[in-house]
Amino acid sequence: MTRPEQPRARTLTKPDDFVGAGLAAPAGAARLADVTARYSAAMTSHLAGLVDPADPADPIARQFVPDARELESAPRDLADPIGDDAHSPCEGLVHRYPDRVLLKIVSACPVYCRFCFRRETVGAAKGGMLSPQALENALDYIRARPQIWEVILTGGDPLALSPRRLAEIVRAIAAIDHVKTLRFHTRVPVAAPDLVTDELVAAIKAEDVTTWVALHANHPRELALEARAALARFVAAGVPLVSQTVLLKGVNDDPETLAALMRAFVEARVKPYYLHHPDLAPGTAHFRLPIEEGRRIAAGMLARVSGLARPAYVLDIPGGYGKISLGVEAARPDGAGGWRLTDPAGRVHSYRED
Ligand code: SF4
Repeated sequence: MTRPEQPRARTLTKPDDFVGAGLAAPAGAARLADVTARYSAAMTSHLAGLVDPADPADPIARQFVPDARELESAPRDLADPIGDDAHSPCEGLVHRYPDRVLLKIVSACPVYCRFCFRRETVGAAKGGMLSPQALENALDYIRARPQIWEVILTGGDPLALSPRRLAEIVRAIAAIDHVKTLRFHTRVPVAAPDLVTDELVAAIKAEDVTTWVALHANHPRELALEARAALARFVAAGVPLVSQTVLLKGVNDDPETLAALMRAFVEARVKPYYLHHPDLAPGTAHFRLPIEEGRRIAAGMLARVSGLARPAYVLDIPGGYGKISLGVEAARPDGAGGWRLTDPAGRVHSYRED
């Protein structure tokens, strides 16, 4: 495939945009139209500019360029892979764990990841913002439950909203006495770093609550200079950052790439938090890999990086039963009153406490 010499000035959304940018083959455009009719597509000019034209398997392109394989169903695909619906007491809210809720305030994103676990509910045509009445109902639910300590704003991508709208929502949540923590799940700093203005950063903070940002990024190249500058604006404003990464075949499924990503997070003052095993979202089987392989890759990454750079490798149990660690248990009883300890290189040591 050849690439035209032209600047990518706008978000790519249609098959012809991806073809025109040299990111998809013209012969496949009709098939891609079937994909984008089913699942929204968007790739910002910033991300398109990070694609290596010489790499036919570029890990940035793979995450955002629609692919005909998304039309294939696999036997274990689930429309709602982590069971949001089963734990939704009202529109926009998911209450899975006692002390925290997810508040899905918008169903749109500046980019659409081809492996998105909420792809059946997220997208340009999926309803936009939560209506004022639905938001008020969700806030009433939170107000009535003093055990809710944390509100996780997600979607969609909440940082796609205007600073004015964000500030209104943040103020309304911060006015609830028992809510002490707000967490924004976002891809904006890496996908559209220009959106991270001082005004936006100020909008997500409020008196009496601590705001955290959980950044979703999957490849070290996403931590480009512009993204690092955007992250620095949160840090300068005192907003702590953690990371979320999805382990994806063809994107980051090797220990070196993951280690480079975790180091890049730490350099940008983002604490590595979760490495997610991919969910069973429809049409994403080409991104999935077996748990055993994921464990081998995660262990290889953990053996390479500093303690500061270690995320937890986790799986959301399908059906909404929560997250569990997939990490290899480093300490196991040896059956004789002691322990068998496995070091980062896989060597086993005995340990006794008596
Ligand atoms: S930014 Fe998040 S919600 Fe939006 S498409 Fe990507 S994974 Fe899905």
